[in-house]
Amino acid sequence: MRWTKAFIPTLKEDPSDAEITSHKLMIRSGMIRKLTGGVYTFLPLGLKVVKKVEAIVREEMNRIGGQETLMPILHPAELWKESGRWDIYGEELLRPIDRQKREYALGPTHEEVVTDLTRKEVRSYRELPLILYQIQTKFRDEIRPRFGVIRAREFMMKDAYSFHEDADSLMKVYADMKEAYSRIFSRCGLNFVIVEADSGAIGGDITHEFTVLAKSGEAEILSCDCGYAASSDRAGTGTEESPSEAERPMTKAHTPGKRSVEEVTLFLGVPSRRLIKTLIVKSQDKICAFLIPGDREMSEAKGRRVLGGMPFEMAAPEEVFKVTGGPMGYSGPVGLRGVRIVADNRVRNMKNIVVGANEEDYHFVDANPGRDFAIGEYADIAVAREGDRCPRCEKKLKSFRGIEVGQIFELGTKYSTSMGAKFLDREGKEKPFIMGCYGIGITRTVAAVIEQSHDSDGIIWPPSLAPYQVLILVVNMNEPEAVNIAESIYEELVGKGFDVLLDDRDERPGNKFKDADLIGIPVRITVGAKTLSEKKVEVRHRRTGAVEMVDRDKLPSVLNKFLSG
Ligand code: ATP
Ligand code: MG
Repeated sequence: MRWTKAFIPTLKEDPSDAEITSHKLMIRSGMIRKLTGGVYTFLPLGLKVVKKVEAIVREEMNRIGGQETLMPILHPAELWKESGRWDIYGEELLRPIDRQKREYALGPTHEEVVTDLTRKEVRSYRELPLILYQIQTKFRDEIRPRFGVIRAREFMMKDAYSFHEDADSLMKVYADMKEAYSRIFSRCGLNFVIVEADSGAIGGDITHEFTVLAKSGEAEILSCDCGYAASSDRAGTGTEESPSEAERPMTKAHTPGKRSVEEVTLFLGVPSRRLIKTLIVKSQDKICAFLIPGDREMSEAKGRRVLGGMPFEMAAPEEVFKVTGGPMGYSGPVGLRGVRIVADNRVRNMKNIVVGANEEDYHFVDANPGRDFAIGEYADIAVAREGDRCPRCEKKLKSFRGIEVGQIFELGTKYSTSMGAKFLDREGKEKPFIMGCYGIGITRTVAAVIEQSHDSDGIIWPPSLAPYQVLILVVNMNEPEAVNIAESIYEELVGKGFDVLLDDRDERPGNKFKDADLIGIPVRITVGAKTLSEKKVEVRHRRTGAVEMVDRDKLPSVLNKFLSG
């Protein structure tokens, strides 16, 4: 491709709405353009990289027996009602209505559609295991789309679904997937970890996330030297030892206008871990109280698990008043009746603590669980953090940030049971399929590669994903000899099957060099005065900046060696 014919609209300045490097560089290098919030057009250069990731994913999915399909993005609401997710998926599910007033969902994931397919088409254990996958546009109405294609509303995903006659078969394919995913992300040049994760709205119990280490990542991972790694929404927080102090009598303290943990603890002169916050939440019209140590955050994922997978939201002030008799900000467990109370495990060993008094401007001091208030249930509902004990070996967990690029789930029979998807087993009995599902964010992976592989000048593509393998840069288009040499190298390399971009623009050399670094092609061949005199070409490696002079006739073999290694 000649740059003068190519559509590569590079920019010198960072776009003002981009917060992280990959987003800035994808815009500046002319890979993507924003259409509207969280919705992007992939321009030719960007799409070439997407296609490379797709090709790797296809190869690895086919290698483990996956078969490619393509399912619709428009899903009839009935399917989502059958699985029960119409009500629990929440506002991320965009729900268009057609001219007949029929309701639909724009597919954020395809368990319903694929389960509907197999319940109609697969009859016998002989047809199992079955692994279907697709690479397709997904839509999720994310509350906060950001970071370009990392958290978009419309994005490309590879989603795979497996169907099995028994748990052994699922376990085997799950292990194959785990390996395939590791190969995919390694081939993309990524440095990643496999973490124990939360299954969110998808369901199932065993699940792993593939997370690319990056400072800009939204996911917090806690890991231990013993090999344990889990998302902060999943990792056990352990318990703290009970302080050895004696229980003091409970008193009521006047805390005028003090509502937040910070205000109350500052006012009373106690550390925030000496307070229990009482969160009054609502899920499916039921009110529940979560008790969390004041220095901890409530984990949405863990809370959801306690509520049987149902989402929840903070109760409104009038609902809080109805159950506690007091205003918001002063809720507490003392005297609280008629609601489910779930306390974080750590509350069990807390002593002499501050809690809201369910009365405006008052808190109780030196309250003690068991003595002053009863707790129905204990559960792990707080977000884990650095320094918590590893649930495997008790050492202290360390925290780091990452970008989740893929996730795999053992679903079991969650969807096949709710949707009546059955097959005949070896004894001729009807049984629900045992299922797994496996996703990779294709477009997010592209951005994650850039997050890990760039410098202050631009992107550094690993050869496996580069939009072009080689860039030939003619320093001065007004030197006919140089142009001729560049043209002949271009023809030769294209003839030998290399994917080459020839920068034949009549631009200032400085701009051409800047653009070359920005778009990050692994190898740059510079054709200028030096080339004319020496019969050698100047080859520069984007990653290391190393420059070597290569004999013209050795060029293809030198390039092959570099690009394959
Ligand atoms: P997240 O926790 O980041 O919202 P998720 O757990 O909801 O992601 P999955 O349902 O596991 O995502 O989807 C599979 C993959 O799709 C994810 O691992 C991620 O790579 C990608 N993905 C999910 N949401 C988005 C999004 N909004 N934009 C781009 N890619 C996404
Ligand atoms: Mg996920």
